[in-house]
Amino acid sequence: MKFGGTSVADLERIRRVARLVNAEVQAGHQVAVVVSAMSGKTNELVAWTDRAGAAAPGLPSSDDEYDVVVASGEQVTAGLLAMTLRNMGVPARSWMGWQIPIIADDAHGRSRIDDIPPEKLGAALDAGQVAVIAGFQGVTRDGRIATLGRGGSDTSAVAIAAALGAPCDIYTDVDGVYTTDPRIESKARRLARISYEEMLEMASLGAKVLQTRSVELAMAYKVPLRVLSSFVEPGEAPGQGTIVCDEEDIVEKRIVSGVAYSRDEAKISLFGLPDHPGVSSTIFGALADANVNVDMIVQSKARTADTANMEFTVGKRDAQRAVEIVRAAQPQIGFEDVQVNDDVAKVSVIGVGMRSHTGVAKSMFQALAEKGVNIQVISTSEIKISVLIDAAYTELAVRALHAAYGLDQL
Ligand code: ADP
Ligand code: ASP
Ligand code: MG
Repeated sequence: MKFGGTSVADLERIRRVARLVNAEVQAGHQVAVVVSAMSGKTNELVAWTDRAGAAAPGLPSSDDEYDVVVASGEQVTAGLLAMTLRNMGVPARSWMGWQIPIIADDAHGRSRIDDIPPEKLGAALDAGQVAVIAGFQGVTRDGRIATLGRGGSDTSAVAIAAALGAPCDIYTDVDGVYTTDPRIESKARRLARISYEEMLEMASLGAKVLQTRSVELAMAYKVPLRVLSSFVEPGEAPGQGTIVCDEEDIVEKRIVSGVAYSRDEAKISLFGLPDHPGVSSTIFGALADANVNVDMIVQSKARTADTANMEFTVGKRDAQRAVEIVRAAQPQIGFEDVQVNDDVAKVSVIGVGMRSHTGVAKSMFQALAEKGVNIQVISTSEIKISVLIDAAYTELAVRALHAAYGLDQL
């Protein structure tokens, strides 16, 4: 069982979580619980590190110490939940990442789990104790605390479920995965089932209900995964939630399953590039060396002979660094101008039915045109189409697409 930040936001909610855990124990199950920090806590901790680091540009990286700070929120909720369970007569103890251990790599701030030896946790569970695990954190092979990227408690939970051979229930503030973010479109519908592949696209394209890496792990290790609401009492009709499963296990096939959006985008435009082999390799090589993740890329011929224009997107946080890297390579590449625009958003439609149906892109472009939304960049894969638009039109675009594919009438 995993409980996110809003589900453990205060003691009253932690008590409700304890009642839900207790109900599982009473039903005869062994339970490992993963908790997030109280909602807002991680943002507050990140802001502290920004302020502590802001005065020191050019000094060596303190990403390892960033992790020490931001991992602390989960320690608090794990202790509070273990305490609350004990007070209810349920044997429980808290576990930090390093105590299990959850072994993770040293890419601080976006670390990946390498291994979870199940012996210690397994022994505690066999002894009848509920294991309350601090999400989001692991430990590197040389003993430093590492965090798994924002939203990483989902990944902690799936990885622990995989290590223990257990199913994983993600309890959150919505009662499942919806056709789009219910905060933006009140007509969004809960999906009874969604395939791993579609969920993976939805997550990586911005639907933050599950961290992308958690879906990858669930798919790779065949972890039965469910998303459900924590805002219920034990015994109340729990709601069905959403089951994330193999495509073959979904009877009702849809062409488009969902609409996702991300405001965490910045577009970088390069004008007047020489149009010859090796240019892209130089630009994206330099960005990759600096660990800047590039998403959409388009290149087109310019009007002037032998020159091209190129646009690509990166995460907002990386935009300034990306521009500096490109500028540093200017003497070598030789382009005329570089511009950055971080007032953009990416809106995507996702569905496995796109593999076999035509006209999905047409409906998307038509729906956006009818609302007067201009498309800046388009990218497609087998099961998704994404467009980059002016950020001001995000909600309008999401709602228009949600209606255009009939998702409000599922
Ligand atoms: P937690 O703190 O439990 O991890 P998150 O805030 O990380 O919760 O994720 C849940 C939120 O994800 C919901 O409140 C909702 O606004 C958002 N969300 C975005 N897209 C979707 C979607 N397609 N279905 C459900 N929720 C979504
Ligand atoms: N507390 C962490 C975050 O806010 C991890 C999580 O909630 O999943 O990113
Ligand atoms: Mg989350």
